Amino acid sequence: MSSHTRIIDAIGLGPVWVARDGQFEGYPVAHWLTDAPDTEAVPAPPVSPPAPPPSVPTEAQPRAAEIPAPAQNAFVATPPPETEQLSWEALDSAVSSCQRCRLSQTRCNAVFGRGNPNARWLLIGEAPGEQEDRLGLPFVGRAGKLLDNMLAAAHLSGEHDVYIANVLKCRPPGNRNPAGDEISACQDFLRQQIRHIQPEIIVALGRFAAQTLLETDQSIARMRGTVHQYQGIPLIVTFHPAYLLRNPPDKGKAWEDWMLAQRTLEK
Ligand code: URA
Repeated sequence: MSSHTRIIDAIGLGPVWVARDGQFEGYPVAHWLTDAPDTEAVPAPPVSPPAPPPSVPTEAQPRAAEIPAPAQNAFVATPPPETEQLSWEALDSAVSSCQRCRLSQTRCNAVFGRGNPNARWLLIGEAPGEQEDRLGLPFVGRAGKLLDNMLAAAHLSGEHDVYIANVLKCRPPGNRNPAGDEISACQDFLRQQIRHIQPEIIVALGRFAAQTLLETDQSIARMRGTVHQYQGIPLIVTFHPAYLLRNPPDKGKAWEDWMLAQRTLEK
């Protein structure tokens, strides 16, 4: 066992590689493709009626069926001002104190992001969940652990090589779908983050992030496997790690997406 693997093990991420034949379509097999057991503790999402418009459907997190996204006019969101670019620090503090929408009333912490703001990779998820809301950091729960595993498998450090942010900076109560006015209220923060980071590649984690960034209602199946563009930056769509926890057979497809992202970046 290499020292790297021992460190990953020691911090609870398990072995990075458990190669079977050692290769997957020409690339080494990552252990998160082959280990299934961590799916069991995450309950399947309750069967819920289709989310009412304007919320964007998502596979990212188990949903509380009883908490529908509020109607768009239930809260008069302050429209995102045509802001001039804030410094990184000012942006962080604007997010922390934001009251642009109803989610500010129920959050514990706004979640700005984590990782290296000068990274080449920008990973964008949907919205903080319970743990993220509690700790003020994105992807720190079980989905985050799988994401860190995937990054390690792709030889990417979550601290140095990537920056991780969400479309929404505050947790929708009960992990319900974000509402359209919440997305509009928040979108300038992400735009400004992207302008600061100037990533060379964006990976949209899950249908919600992809649909929001690409301004489309296409299914994830349609969006995967293509190099999209977000304001001139290549954007790859992949499954949300929380979805992969519930649907481990799709980990292989997710690995293909990460390899497409690697190849795109290397071009
Ligand atoms: N799911 C997300 O989309 N983002 C997080 O930060 C955590 C879970």
